[in-house]
Amino acid sequence: MSANQTQEENHTPTGNAKPLIRLEKVRKHFPIHKGFFNRKVGEVQAVTDIDLNIYAGETLGVVGESGCGKSTLGRSILQLLRPTSGHVFLDDVDLTTLNNSQLRPLRRDMQIVFQNPYSSLDPRMTIGDTVAEPLKVHNLHRGAALTQRVAELLDMVGLPRDAVRRYPHEFSGGQRQRVGIARAIALNPRFIVADEPVSALDVSIQAQILNLMDDLKKEFNLTYMFIAHNLSVVEYISDRVAVMYLGKIVEVAPAASLYKTPLHPYTKALLSSIPIPDPTVDLSQRVLLQGDLPSPSNPPSGCRFHTRCPYVIEKCRQEVPEGIEYLPGHTAYCHLVPEINNLPTSPA
Ligand code: SF4
Repeated sequence: MSANQTQEENHTPTGNAKPLIRLEKVRKHFPIHKGFFNRKVGEVQAVTDIDLNIYAGETLGVVGESGCGKSTLGRSILQLLRPTSGHVFLDDVDLTTLNNSQLRPLRRDMQIVFQNPYSSLDPRMTIGDTVAEPLKVHNLHRGAALTQRVAELLDMVGLPRDAVRRYPHEFSGGQRQRVGIARAIALNPRFIVADEPVSALDVSIQAQILNLMDDLKKEFNLTYMFIAHNLSVVEYISDRVAVMYLGKIVEVAPAASLYKTPLHPYTKALLSSIPIPDPTVDLSQRVLLQGDLPSPSNPPSGCRFHTRCPYVIEKCRQEVPEGIEYLPGHTAYCHLVPEINNLPTSPA
């Protein structure tokens, strides 16, 4: 265990010193094949060498631009995508060493809520069958007990009991996402990856779904990894936040610390892009990101942000920055954090 991980444990928002999920150098690269012989000509480096802890009872928000690897990371943790290398521990069990049948009982502990409630539900299945499906697959309930459990789950997510016999097209986006949440909690999981669960919903519905997820978290002591590109949503629901850029984490911190004192230039730019409904705010102070996200099939050397960073120096092009905990529980991966933020060069 690294020094960073040890220090981070002292500052976990939930006070749980032991991570429920632990990632060690997790990497997911997708091969690119071309030509008549389908030869491998490169790879998309979606997620590269991620070290991260997720503590029991916390909500870890994961933010970054589209294509930064957030969803791939979530699916790699759940083993829906098998990592190319590295280790994912649930408690002390290394999931990457298990085959599919060994993983099956553990899948009850780890579930996912998908982004799009319109495409994530089978239009030919009733809501009752959809919610009952994981219970049947894991052979947990049958007959009257199954009917009773489905009714309980619909109650928990605020859907009417008669939803059991109805089909997805009869429901709004928010109601469909409630179905997705009911399906995710059906097996009493401990950990849920929520992959942009509100981004396809009207703003007026988003708060209802966020509040529902927060209530369920408290009631069932759930742990969430909450993936989103909307920084306001992440601030609202998260205990800690990890910021990703081009397949790597660039900053991870308690939510209050990250939003009040962002240390990494990329995080500063992201936060600066949040719209502020106040015409008196001086927009000239905003940090604007230059250029587009580079291709993950050919990421920049050294610090991956160097092609867009206003502070870049030669070292940034050569050396990958290590994560250093500069503030309590607040780690940033940048060579120039002290200089940019007027912090002492040796962190406390
Ligand atoms: Fe910018 Fe260099 Fe820090 Fe990367 S390491 S964020 S390029 S200053």
